[in-house]
Amino acid sequence: MDIKDLDSNKTVVVATGNAHKVTEIEAILAPVMPGVRFVALGELGDFPDPVEDGETFFDNALIKARAAQSETGLPMAVADDSGLCVDALDGAPGIFSARWAGEHGNDAANNEKLMAQMADVPDEARTARFHSSVVLVRGDEVLRGDGDCEGRVGYVPRGDGGFGYDPLFLPNDTPGKTMAELTADEKNAISHRFHALEDLSAKL
Ligand code: IMP
Repeated sequence: MDIKDLDSNKTVVVATGNAHKVTEIEAILAPVMPGVRFVALGELGDFPDPVEDGETFFDNALIKARAAQSETGLPMAVADDSGLCVDALDGAPGIFSARWAGEHGNDAANNEKLMAQMADVPDEARTARFHSSVVLVRGDEVLRGDGDCEGRVGYVPRGDGGFGYDPLFLPNDTPGKTMAELTADEKNAISHRFHALEDLSAKL
């Protein structure tokens, strides 16, 4: 897709490499942004990932949204940043969720580390939440949405769906099932990203 063929006032660049996220973001924001087209950043070129050195989920989402804006020259961009915050670990892995065990995006190693760190934590202290911050930039304007999915950390991974820490996360909304045992639709109806996008869409 060629950037110059797009109507810059009616295009939102979605700064994520994850096709599922593009669909999820579009499904919730399109109804409140009529006539706007959502285009994944990767469809517009091969841009380097920005350094995510913010101190909060919001900071890192804003870094990604601003980078998409400057890389494409398009005025509107949306990005999200998310992670798992475990109470017994003082909020870790938090913004370091993707690279907690060292290598970026090594889900298996991250889950091994979570199991090891939580091995001696009793049932009542295994509370945790996924958090998501979503940022939409329109020129200089910054709009944000935030959402959580409350739950507990399990002892053993279960399920093949989703990604990341899903096999070890038991959402309060789906008793007895890990996030990885939900269908995509079931997850999307309760997820932190869903709540963050709803929060953002209420501001549009
Ligand atoms: P990102 O914001 O998509 O880059 O997510 C950062 C990291 O947080 C991922 O690599 C996962 O480890 C974790 N994470 C974020 N959202 C989810 C989720 O919905 N399920 C499981 N893990 C997640």
